[in-house]
Amino acid sequence: MPLEVVLIDYARDPLLKLYGAYRTCYTPKTPPEVWRDIGDGTVSPEKVRDFVVERLKTGHVSPLEQVVFWFGISGVSRALSHQFVRHRIGISFEQQSQRYVKYREDRLEYVTPKSWEKSPGMAEEYDRLMAEITRVYQLAVEKGIPAEDARFVLPNATPTNFQVMVNFAELLHVADLRLCWRAQWEIRHMVALMRREVVRVVPELGSHIQPKCGEKRMGYCDEPLKDWERCPIGKVRPHKEQLFQLFARHKAGNLEPLGEAELRRVEDEGNEP
Ligand SMILES: Cc1cc2nc3c(=O)[nH]c(=O)nc-3n(C[C@H](O)[C@H](O)[C@H](O)COP(=O)(O)OP(=O)(O)OC[C@H]3O[C@@H](n4cnc5c(N)ncnc54)[C@H](O)[C@@H]3O)c2cc1C
Repeated sequence: MPLEVVLIDYARDPLLKLYGAYRTCYTPKTPPEVWRDIGDGTVSPEKVRDFVVERLKTGHVSPLEQVVFWFGISGVSRALSHQFVRHRIGISFEQQSQRYVKYREDRLEYVTPKSWEKSPGMAEEYDRLMAEITRVYQLAVEKGIPAEDARFVLPNATPTNFQVMVNFAELLHVADLRLCWRAQWEIRHMVALMRREVVRVVPELGSHIQPKCGEKRMGYCDEPLKDWERCPIGKVRPHKEQLFQLFARHKAGNLEPLGEAELRRVEDEGNEP
């Protein structure tokens, strides 16, 4: 069963919602006046987009809670779902029940990590165990053991499905953690597919869905130095220890200021997709 993520829906006109929310904070105008300006075209779509894009560069994140996305997610393992449901704020989950849904297939479907397939002989061991679990599970159901008890033999590899509602502030936070190279591969893959869906419909927002070291997020890594050294993104993103060292050198006057050309190069590199 392949991992699949679909964007079911999203709150109408997310950029306008963000414009209205941010504008309300920074203008003497009342919200009805702000929204009249939007409605009668006094504020063009370009101005809305530019204003929002500028605000997204700031630490003012609470307006992002006013933009909501709904996702349908299928074919993820219970190992993933245990991690996913740990997120508590600004996210709401509905997950397929193992009490009310019995696994009827001849061969219970399950998620197989690639690492088992790469290790000689281990994929066969994995399949053999899954087949045995399937046999015992189905026997238990046939013998009248309720699904809620039969499921006790099911593995972390069992696939599950979600409908999820998440606001944009929390989606960014989830991506901060779960797109990080230190996150588990499957949840990283799922969040990457969520990002792809948002990029498809609102690229201005979707491009901000990055690991926390991304140039539109913190811009540096705060994970253990050893992990940063092993991380492929570590080749292009600084570690916080390096930033502290640079800052100490700067304070001590031991750092040459960058020239115009160098500054531009650093900025260009930082803006790489
Ligand atoms: C690489 C990695 C390894 C992990 N390993 C383990 C592990 O070994 N064992 C384990 O149990 N868990 C582990 N976790 C899960 C982790 O501990 C969190 O439960 C999970 O990431 C949920 O994130 P969150 O707390 O930021 O919750 P979210 O709900 O996503 O939080 C959203 C925001 O609200 C804040 N927030 C939420 N609740 C409160 C509160 N009550 N008070 C104040 N602020 C709050 C959060 O700090 C965050 O800023 C791991 C996570 C990652 C990414």
